[in-house]
Amino acid sequence: MKHNFGAGPCILPQVVFKEAAEAIVDFNGLSILEISHRSPDFVAVMEEAQDLVKKALNVPKGYSVLFLQGGASLGFTIAALNMMRETKKAGYMNTGTWAKGAIGEAKAVGIDVNVFASSEDNNFGYIPKSDAIPTDVDYIHCTSNNTIFGTQFHAIPETSLPLVCDMSSDIFSKPVDVSKYDLIYAGAQKNLGPAGTTLYIVKDSALGKSTSEFMPKYLNLKSHADKGSMLNTPPVFSIYAAMLNLRDLIANGGVEAAAFRNKAKADALYAEIDSNPSFKGTVPVEDRSIMNITFLLSDETDKDAFDKLWNDAEIIGLKGHRSVGGYRASMYNALTLESVHALTSVMSELTRSKA
Ligand SMILES: *Cc1c(COP(=O)(O)O)cnc(C)c1O
Repeated sequence: MKHNFGAGPCILPQVVFKEAAEAIVDFNGLSILEISHRSPDFVAVMEEAQDLVKKALNVPKGYSVLFLQGGASLGFTIAALNMMRETKKAGYMNTGTWAKGAIGEAKAVGIDVNVFASSEDNNFGYIPKSDAIPTDVDYIHCTSNNTIFGTQFHAIPETSLPLVCDMSSDIFSKPVDVSKYDLIYAGAQKNLGPAGTTLYIVKDSALGKSTSEFMPKYLNLKSHADKGSMLNTPPVFSIYAAMLNLRDLIANGGVEAAAFRNKAKADALYAEIDSNPSFKGTVPVEDRSIMNITFLLSDETDKDAFDKLWNDAEIIGLKGHRSVGGYRASMYNALTLESVHALTSVMSELTRSKA
């Protein structure tokens, strides 16, 4: 059994892989890959998936749940187009590569972007303060967890303006107060399911209010909400697997229990990083991510020895992103504490082997 610390597509529970595999062969007599998305069997899957999102995150009334395509990358564009109002201005927090992507796409659709907080000065190694939040803009955008840099917001920016958040890499890892947001979006493949669908949770009162002159039907969230997320052919398999994963999440105590398990995993790894002289973290304690944990070797000459140790231990996906270097352990919901222990034990072993 391999320990998958990959940053995405993510590890999912074994039971989800098994049930998804069975449905490829036989889903009420046909393969899930060949059924019509208009068939009652798939309509039921779509409805259950939407209901499970609402249940898992305690989504208040007045929100729509959509499963679209295009990844969070298209979400950058969709968010900007749909949230554009009278001022055509927006406030963005620049906390890493993905946040920067969101800023770029907002500019591309004609939004005057005010980057009111940024951690670019220190290679995005911390979460910047959000006290200079602008008030003369249409909406505020943030990225709750910075997958590449290992930072995470532990308190959301305080604003009375519509708040938009890219939650791709920490959605369903902990409870979220959805009522604080007008729009949440997340590529499925970080903590929800296989690549191929992108989740949108949108306040109904925010639909159809865009002032953008450029609004293709597919990019208009209202078109999708009006059609129950079936405007065109949805990514059937990806939604089905996400639904199975949500069933499993809820059967195992929901996001509260997941948050508890995720904290135990993160505590175990950070404790090792902080106590083992061979390693150092890259993020101040208060901004550390529970999902993606970045760390460096104290002495680069240990690289070959450490790489051999973790490769031999069947650990995969640990190489850091090129913009940070070192290592990154992504610890999505389905990663077990046993896998974390496999990692911390090779870290200790490295130090022991040098003594
Ligand atoms: C991976 C990631 C993205 C990009 O997702 P795609 O679905 O590949 O477009 C955007 N934002 C965050 C926070 C991510 O982790």
